Amino acid sequence: MKSSKCRFCRSEDLHDVIDLGKQPLANAFSTSAKKSINLNRYDLKVVRCKRCNLCQLSEIVHWSEIYNNYSYLSSSSKPLVDHYKKLVSRLDEKYSIKNSYILDVGCNDGILLDCYDQITPKNKRVGVDPSSVAKLAKEKGYQVFNSPLNLALSEQIILSVGNKFKIITFTNVFAHIDDIHEIMKSLRKLMNEDTILIIEAPYLYEMLDNKYFDTIYHEHYSYLSLLPMLMLMEEYGFEIFYVEHSNIGASGPNLAYHVRFKTKNDYTEIIKTTIAYELKKIKSGIFDNYQKSIEKWKKSLIELIDEEVKSGGVIGCIGSPAKGSTLLNFMFSPLNNKIKFISEVNPIKINSYLPGLGIKIVSESEFESSGITLAILLTWNYRDFFIEKYKQKKSSYKLVVPLPELNVYKN
Ligand SMILES: [Zn+2]
Repeated sequence: MKSSKCRFCRSEDLHDVIDLGKQPLANAFSTSAKKSINLNRYDLKVVRCKRCNLCQLSEIVHWSEIYNNYSYLSSSSKPLVDHYKKLVSRLDEKYSIKNSYILDVGCNDGILLDCYDQITPKNKRVGVDPSSVAKLAKEKGYQVFNSPLNLALSEQIILSVGNKFKIITFTNVFAHIDDIHEIMKSLRKLMNEDTILIIEAPYLYEMLDNKYFDTIYHEHYSYLSLLPMLMLMEEYGFEIFYVEHSNIGASGPNLAYHVRFKTKNDYTEIIKTTIAYELKKIKSGIFDNYQKSIEKWKKSLIELIDEEVKSGGVIGCIGSPAKGSTLLNFMFSPLNNKIKFISEVNPIKINSYLPGLGIKIVSESEFESSGITLAILLTWNYRDFFIEKYKQKKSSYKLVVPLPELNVYKN
């Protein structure tokens, strides 16, 4: 479905930012190379609203198609687990949340709810998630609603839990929501004056500055920043009073917005500074030059791969995150066959095929003994962790960290 209006402010003044071509759904892992290559493809293009500066996809794939066969298991990522532990301990320090009701929207397998172990009992931890992995969170003993969040579900949650929430989190979820106004109405039901809402999402300006274009995929309907978020929150009587940067997140560096019901008319200092920063970025023409800089980056990575292949080398990739699918589908056409294998630790993905290109995903041990001479790290957002692991294992291949800058490591 083409989207002709801004999701936040409903303006039709939309302008192109980046076009990554037609791509399959980034989490549609297939059982054979043929199925992978024959997957449906949709435009993967980001447009910007000139009125509120929200960036969003030009084509919307319905969530039921995306989450039909969803295999992303949050807890398989150790750095992400550590990130959430730190987030919860900061929330406790800042807002004293002992023994409080907690709601995590998009709870996945319960990775974030797990982090409240020392803080609040399991029956006060509530999760919402439309995907099938939510059953894993339910098995852990949390109250889980296996559905997308909407107004009717919010009423049901309040009835069933019997309380409003002290903390509501959307970590790497807000950008996945198409009908944002339904969510805002739901939040008015779920929150009271004491509720702190935390929305953590990849930060648009970091993505633009550092070429993190691979965080663009069909699940991410919106690319968020403070200015459009302020406009949206104010429409529903909320205020953003604090923002926090972090380098680790499920999709790379992100910004966490701390939101509550409006208490005053003035912005806090950190909000004022961030507004000024974003206005300066917009003025600098950052949206106009993005496509060109990505094409240039692509050319250098292709050259590096071609050189290795020419000298008899074999190329592999490490990790199969959704963003790896965007990166590889932007670089290669289906029958290109330049990548032999992708290595993975998530057992659900091993022996499946990366969407669109028919590349097989294998276990780490099979990968290490497959004669790969150059490996591209697709989970580059955890690069420190993987570089350390690479050194410890003394792997014989060269390791390429593709983003934010192309870097090659040797043991
Ligand atoms: Zn807008």
